Amino acid sequence: MISDVVVIGAGPAGLSAAVAAAEAGASVVVIDENPRPGGKLLGQLHEEPGTGWWIGAEISKSLAKRAEEAGVRILSNRQVWNLSPKWEVALDNGESVCGEYAVVATGAAERPLPIPGWSLPGVMAIGAAQTLTNYYRVRPGDRVAVVGMDPLSLTVAHELSMAGADVVGIYLPSKSVFAGSQADPDRNLEYLAGMSDLAPNALLRWGGRLASNRALRNLALTFFPTSGIPLMGTKLNLRKSIVSIGGDERVQHVEIATIDKHGNPGKTRTVDVDCVCISGGLYPVQELTRDCELVRIDQLGGTVPLYSPEMETSQSNLFVAGNVTGIEGAKIAMAQGTLAGTAIASRLGRIQGKDAVDQAAEAVRSARKSSAITFMPDIDEGRRIAEDLWLQLEREKSMTQKDESYA
Ligand SMILES: Cc1cc2nc3c(=O)[nH]c(=O)nc-3n(C[C@H](O)[C@H](O)[C@H](O)COP(=O)(O)OP(=O)(O)OC[C@H]3O[C@@H](n4cnc5c(N)ncnc54)[C@H](O)[C@@H]3O)c2cc1C
Repeated sequence: MISDVVVIGAGPAGLSAAVAAAEAGASVVVIDENPRPGGKLLGQLHEEPGTGWWIGAEISKSLAKRAEEAGVRILSNRQVWNLSPKWEVALDNGESVCGEYAVVATGAAERPLPIPGWSLPGVMAIGAAQTLTNYYRVRPGDRVAVVGMDPLSLTVAHELSMAGADVVGIYLPSKSVFAGSQADPDRNLEYLAGMSDLAPNALLRWGGRLASNRALRNLALTFFPTSGIPLMGTKLNLRKSIVSIGGDERVQHVEIATIDKHGNPGKTRTVDVDCVCISGGLYPVQELTRDCELVRIDQLGGTVPLYSPEMETSQSNLFVAGNVTGIEGAKIAMAQGTLAGTAIASRLGRIQGKDAVDQAAEAVRSARKSSAITFMPDIDEGRRIAEDLWLQLEREKSMTQKDESYA
């Protein structure tokens, strides 16, 4: 099968890239391992300040409908095993799909965060709890403890309590080589500052304002109530960590330690729960971009490909969009996908002039400005590093080309 564009990943980024290219007249195939298009969008359900409810399942449905109406072929239940230049995509059923252009939009995955007892049935990654609750409408437990403080865990804790679960609290992980700074109350308070505009609780907003000042943050931590503060139907416990998870054949309880402001444990007690959701953070999925120039930028969530202002990687005609370039919210992923699809349509001669590409690039910037969720607190710095490295790569390439033409 040969088409103008092959898109890998039918999340918000991949679908948006497909829609932009196909609506301009390009032939497009989208491949995704899941039975339905939508990626992580399918499980998203949260209220955004000013714009109301974000219902990911409905947004994916309308994106997929728009794609199909524009003639996009969506191949579901197919995993991509390999991507080779010019661009041949090898599928798990032995078939292959070729495109003059390819877009890798494989999204992000969850970092595992091991805790003693985490292999018991009833313990799951926070994303699994989100999918069960919002997409399959199955409550993962009646009494739930959440481990890890980040936008995803806060959002899912709220979703679980809206679904009728008793969320006993959101806790830090205990100090370990895996938890790293996630077990540090100070780092978590600073992190919450990035979300302080969204904070529904006055004390959190206050904490957010203090968070840029280390001395005041120290004071806030000293006085942070050890009983936690109420947050969207549960309690945020910056001064408690989960030491272990226990039970005979499935989760029955967690051992919770009161911690000092450096994360060192004191007294422990046991709390009955039947479900534990662990959030260890997200990282961009890079298996298919391995031949591109890749760099590790922790501020973006891990290893990412370098790419041009139009989303093209160091490999000609290979574009990227969405969380594969760094961990951000769905609206930004959609805007990046639209930019990649528009840039490809322009390169194919389906769009005349540069206006549409410039507008799509501007839409990415404004999606970033208005984004309600910030997954990585230093994302702006991460983007700047990536942009500088791209410019450096371009300079090196043009110097090599000059040297070759002199030789
Ligand atoms: C568990 C989880 C929960 C999240 N919750 C929220 C939230 O509530 N709100 C929010 O704004 N953001 C959330 N995010 C961030 C989220 O990733 C972005 O919002 C957005 O979905 C990213 O879009 P994307 O298209 O880049 O990737 P994704 O939505 O992740 O889509 C990527 C798609 O590519 C497919 N894929 C990957 N590799 C292959 C392969 N080799 N072959 C075939 N298909 C493949 C995947 O199955 C997936 O369908 C969440 C992320 C995760 C991991």
